[in-house]
Amino acid sequence: MADVFERKQTRQIHVGGIPVGGGAPVTVQSMTTTKTADVDGTLAQVYALRGAGADIVRITCNDVAAAQGLAEIVPRSPVPIIADIHFQYRLALAALEAGVAGLRLNPGNIRKPEHIKAVAVAAAERKVPIRVGVNAGSLDKDLLAKYGAPVPQALVESALHEIHLLEEAGFGDIKISVKHSHVPSMVASYRLLSETVDYPLHLGVTEAGPPPAGLMKSVAGIATLLLEGIGDTIRFSLTADPVEEAEAGRRLLEQLGLRERAGLDLIACPSCGRAEVDVITVVKEAQQVLEAENLPIQVAVMGCVVNGPGEAREADIGIAAGRGKGHLFIKGQVVRVVKEDEMVAALLDEARKLVEEGVEARLAAADAAAGEIAAATAADLLALRGDANRTAERRAAVAEVAGGE
Ligand code: SF4
Repeated sequence: MADVFERKQTRQIHVGGIPVGGGAPVTVQSMTTTKTADVDGTLAQVYALRGAGADIVRITCNDVAAAQGLAEIVPRSPVPIIADIHFQYRLALAALEAGVAGLRLNPGNIRKPEHIKAVAVAAAERKVPIRVGVNAGSLDKDLLAKYGAPVPQALVESALHEIHLLEEAGFGDIKISVKHSHVPSMVASYRLLSETVDYPLHLGVTEAGPPPAGLMKSVAGIATLLLEGIGDTIRFSLTADPVEEAEAGRRLLEQLGLRERAGLDLIACPSCGRAEVDVITVVKEAQQVLEAENLPIQVAVMGCVVNGPGEAREADIGIAAGRGKGHLFIKGQVVRVVKEDEMVAALLDEARKLVEEGVEARLAAADAAAGEIAAATAADLLALRGDANRTAERRAAVAEVAGGE
């Protein structure tokens, strides 16, 4: 899929078989919440994350039992595993021994140069990349004292210091994150970092909290940067089931055109004075039946046939209500008219056929009379209900106010 915006060229690293940076597709990461020593429980979550769209999964390596768990998890995992390391550099060495595809080190709590260099040497031997994962909440205390607060300059300086130590050890297989829980500071930190280095960047708003606020914070920060061409891999840090994180990350990339849609994209009109059905109820019904099949198409549920097919002409398929009937349309063209209470079932049936046979075939199989019936219903509605949105009246009122200025 062609990007509609230019992405900043970064170096490319590989996390297991997955390229990150250097023009590679932006990847989704998430992190397990199980105890790593619980091998089966953790693997079940890794599989669920993979199913939701995660390309890479991070797992904490916080004690020896966790490192031993990793040794069992890594060979059975469907995605590359990154070990999350805090405080104890020896656990990074243990995680490498366990076969992980990547390490995340926190410069705020692994501070001794000789420890960082020891990890770099061991990671280089295994061709395993390291993420320098700076976090505003656990910033190096010297930098916090120097800047007085975790400002973007402080986060970037922390990252650069650690990168310098890694580079001194001859290590360049690096990606970086400078996460902040305050969205404008997060965006400013990554912008500054992106101007300063060409290593691939891992984006995230840290401690974003539970949805929906956590989702909004993450989308605000991550999408802003991605649209500026900054960022090579992303993680939503939600206080929620991590499956929600992975799904949110995947959906964001799909919406930005950075990833092919994996499943259903259900859109619906917000409803207005013209609506011929309770759009919210119909959407819920449609969502239930369509999500169960996860068809890789965009489906529109529209409140009225007067404007619905036109407003949703970009959708692969849709349905619009009007005078007790459902009007099925493909790419804006009405192909079938059914009873209103059968429209969700008909939508599912047509959606399945569309996926199997393609747009051309389904347009060719359209009911020849459907377009005319829809046009007549729309004309009928306009005649019967008049202008339900009082368009002419409101336009006149607006013109009057504007003219009076
Ligand atoms: S005009 Fe029709 S399709 Fe558009 S928002 Fe109103 S009800 Fe929905």
